[in-house]
Amino acid sequence: MSLTTQAAPLLNRLIASSVAIANQAGKIIRDVMKKGELGIVEKEHANDLQTEADRAAQQCIIGSLAKQFPKIKIIGEEEDEPERESCGWTLDVNNLPSVAMSCPPHLLALKEEEVVVWVDPLDGTSEYTQAFQCWFSGHQGVCKQLGLECQSLLDHVTVLIGIATGGKAIGGIIHQPYYNYKNPGGELGRTIWGVVDGGLGGLVVAKPPKEKMIVTTTRSHSSSTVNDAIAAVKPDEVLRVGGAGHKVMLLLEGLAHAYVFASPGCKKWDTCAPQAVLEAAGGIMTDIKGEQIPYHANVPHRNSTGVLATAIADEHSKISQMIPQHVKDNLKA
Ligand code: AMP
Ligand code: MG
Ligand code: MG
Repeated sequence: MSLTTQAAPLLNRLIASSVAIANQAGKIIRDVMKKGELGIVEKEHANDLQTEADRAAQQCIIGSLAKQFPKIKIIGEEEDEPERESCGWTLDVNNLPSVAMSCPPHLLALKEEEVVVWVDPLDGTSEYTQAFQCWFSGHQGVCKQLGLECQSLLDHVTVLIGIATGGKAIGGIIHQPYYNYKNPGGELGRTIWGVVDGGLGGLVVAKPPKEKMIVTTTRSHSSSTVNDAIAAVKPDEVLRVGGAGHKVMLLLEGLAHAYVFASPGCKKWDTCAPQAVLEAAGGIMTDIKGEQIPYHANVPHRNSTGVLATAIADEHSKISQMIPQHVKDNLKA
């Protein structure tokens, strides 16, 4: 069935369109970096930044989705009333990427009015700006302060488009604009899509090792409760990386067992797409108390009760029980 006809299920058309749109957003993010003018603005605090790449990528994603799916509710990170104008690029609806998903039977009749799309046009802005500052500060591609290759921070950047209905994350796109950066001349970027009970594409999922426990968490938004929660689950290794999208990528690639973030800093646009992709792959994501994260259009944007995700669904409740009560009590809805 052609995706260009209205006869194709809405979810299939939405996933294929979002893959193409996320690819374009990734191109915008790379172009802003190449231009060398990030246009940084502080949002809630000095560690909460917005750049020209966040703004331009969001405009492209929301403008393109709204044009094709006018009745869908779209909530983007960067503005309360999202910009719905065109971004100078047009989604080619006659040439959408092929996405080998099967629409779950209960979603075959899904209507636009029932869908909420959560958009994080650039997840990992801290790392994006740090990579930029590192790159242009004469350290020959290596950050002296962090002891890291500047470009490695760009691996933390993702574009996230999450699809929800009935308050549940049902589908998601994670695009990595800098994937393959170590391969000069190779094509940059890849896009992973997932539909809960409907398939997953763009990477081969791997299970994490059995002999040790690896936890991933924030590298730039730590706090004492974040650290107390990590210590309590007794990991053999802790990977402190940027971005909710990137951390879920580590779970999908079998490089970490759990994403533990006992802080109110993450928002619904950070978690909706990663949750759907993770759950399509057999993992699970909840808040730090083990409760469902709701994605209705009118919920508070902040995930005030934190995030707990595991690559293997069966490992979730064990880890959830290890989170100390004072950490759970500290995070109020
Ligand atoms: P991180 O794991 O620190 O990269 O955070 C994942 C996502 O949550 C990013 O989009 C961050 O911007 C957001 N986030 C987490 N903690 C905070 C915070 N304290 N203030 C603002 N944004 C945050
Ligand atoms: Mg984000
Ligand atoms: Mg963002």
